Amino acid sequence: MTGVRGRLAPSPTGLLHLGNAWAFLLAWLACRKAGGTLVLRMEDIDPERSSQAWADAIVYDLRWLGLDWDEGPRPDGTPGETGPCGPYVQSRRSALYEQALARLGDRVYPCYCTRKELRDQLRAMAGAPHVDDRGAPYPGTCRHLTAEQRAQRESAGRHPCLRLNTEGLAGISFVDALCGPQSFSLAGCGGDFALRRSDGVWAYQLAVVVDDALMGINQVVRGEDILVSTPRQLALFDLLGWPRPAYAHIPLLCDPDGERLAKRHGSLSLRALREAGHAPQELVGLLAFKAGLQDRPEPRAPGDLLEGFSLQRLPQGPVRLDAASL
Ligand code: GLU
Ligand code: ZN
Repeated sequence: MTGVRGRLAPSPTGLLHLGNAWAFLLAWLACRKAGGTLVLRMEDIDPERSSQAWADAIVYDLRWLGLDWDEGPRPDGTPGETGPCGPYVQSRRSALYEQALARLGDRVYPCYCTRKELRDQLRAMAGAPHVDDRGAPYPGTCRHLTAEQRAQRESAGRHPCLRLNTEGLAGISFVDALCGPQSFSLAGCGGDFALRRSDGVWAYQLAVVVDDALMGINQVVRGEDILVSTPRQLALFDLLGWPRPAYAHIPLLCDPDGERLAKRHGSLSLRALREAGHAPQELVGLLAFKAGLQDRPEPRAPGDLLEGFSLQRLPQGPVRLDAASL
């Protein structure tokens, strides 16, 4: 595996909407512009929220939009996948997450706090001087429980989540291609974060790092809402001895009220837009206009935008769709 390797990492928990299309179009362009290999990975880590039907719909919508990929689920919607780094579906990668967890060794500990206990602990800490605007970190209540204390909680029927002990880890600095130099303390990002939930579901932070590393991803283009997760991910890359990818966190696409586009903007799902008679080139043209890649929202195919493409041309801060362009 050489050269640029980028990825599209949708969660099959609903229909793709225009905000997803925005992020995926830009990730596609950044990867294709660099002559890179693009991976499609289904982040169906949460079995309760994910389904194969949503995954199929995402494959269909991406293709309809005009985006392709080199590795991952078969683009024609038939079962199976292509590429050397599979499975490209998180629900089939548990063994790999397990191995990474084992390699983190003593850094991992069981936390038996219930949701209510966590809330109470955090409330008691609110206003403490080391609590910044990113929220109170987990106070480390279960970090140093003795074997006996653990056994006690287990016999009371408590199921622990697994957390990473971030004590003594240095702050995390990195340069984001769009947001510039970043510096975070792990305490400022929630402190000891979960690697596996108490119901056994793997945490996004661990899964995404294992997948990005083992799939050789070195270019990550994704929404700015995930910037706050990046330090936790980088801490894991460092602890596991894996090279860090380069990151570009792109501004979010917002509705006319400045609200981030989300699944509840049902009329802006690609399926609804298609059924309302919009052509994919129209949507791509609109997104390209919003991204500063063309002067007017003229219909375009993704490939038309490669010439002269640069993420640096993106506007700073959230990008608003005005009512007229909807
Ligand atoms: N699966 C995540 C989402 O849909 C994206 C994760 C990532 O790009 O790191 O929000
Ligand atoms: Zn705890």
